[in-house]
Amino acid sequence: PGQLFKKTDITVEVNEFLIGIEDRIEEMLEVAARTSPPEILIGKHCNEPYSCPLKDRCWRFLPDNHIFNLYGSKDKAAELFNKGVLSIKDIPDWYNLNFKQKIQLECAKTEKPKINKSEILKFINSLEYPLYFLDFETFSTAIPLYEGVRPYQIIPFQYSIHILDAIDSQPSHYDFLAEGAEDPREELLLNLKYKIDETGSIIVYYESFERGVLKELAEAFPDYSQWIDSILTRIVDLYKPFGNFHYYHSSQKGSASVKNVLPAITDLSYEGMEIADGMAASVYFLYICGNYDINESRPAKEEVEKVRKSLIKYCGMDTGGMIHILRALVKEVE
Ligand code: SF4
Repeated sequence: PGQLFKKTDITVEVNEFLIGIEDRIEEMLEVAARTSPPEILIGKHCNEPYSCPLKDRCWRFLPDNHIFNLYGSKDKAAELFNKGVLSIKDIPDWYNLNFKQKIQLECAKTEKPKINKSEILKFINSLEYPLYFLDFETFSTAIPLYEGVRPYQIIPFQYSIHILDAIDSQPSHYDFLAEGAEDPREELLLNLKYKIDETGSIIVYYESFERGVLKELAEAFPDYSQWIDSILTRIVDLYKPFGNFHYYHSSQKGSASVKNVLPAITDLSYEGMEIADGMAASVYFLYICGNYDINESRPAKEEVEKVRKSLIKYCGMDTGGMIHILRALVKEVE
């Protein structure tokens, strides 16, 4: 623990934060004692500094494609809301919107997706077969679980890879999910190395994450760094056509995340999946991986098996979903 913690005197900073705390506590107690909630309009404060758990309730009067889905500018959204604009389609034409926001307005009005065929075609033509659709699941903990790991270091414990020889061919699927309480990284790396041949694009969704994971692995396992460097040069980011709004559908609600894009462009979605996001995946993995406090009870074998199946299904959905997204893009430009 001596290496994990550092003693620093932050009394001055804390004292600054203490100014006004007593008044705010008094105010909060007064509000908590009321029988009805205060009349406060929704706005930026519902998401800052973090998303309020009461949004479902306070925001339910908003239409489906509401103004707070406006891409990239919470201030503009709040200003328009305060002027009485609830829906993106009702933004006045004269209002100063950026390029992506204009696309949102156009799609909301026409109820059709915006498709920039030439840019999408450029993206598709940049791909080199076979295609490797890759996704990692990771966790990071304040107290490192393994020797030589720093606080909050990202530790990959699972990957899924789908390999496609041609756009309409049957993909091969492989995955790795760590077992036990040992550091899973080297086994994962070795396993992955055998799945990826020397040519072909490696397709990920939101490349900075996968690149970050691979770079950290290269640092921790220098024997693999040359191989990892070669992998990094082959990465293609499927997020880009959506992040750049070369394809946009109103049902994405201003987001280019795979969770929003998949149901917008295909008939698939993550809805109803037991594990449906990366945070849940890492929490579930930590639950079953066996790094327990002696006071905590271990989940039963059946429970561990059930969680493993859900993790494999979730990560497989991320890479399988990418194939469906790419095929949908190809169809759009045919
Ligand atoms: S969602 Fe939360 S922050 Fe926003 S108005 Fe409701 S209670 Fe206040």
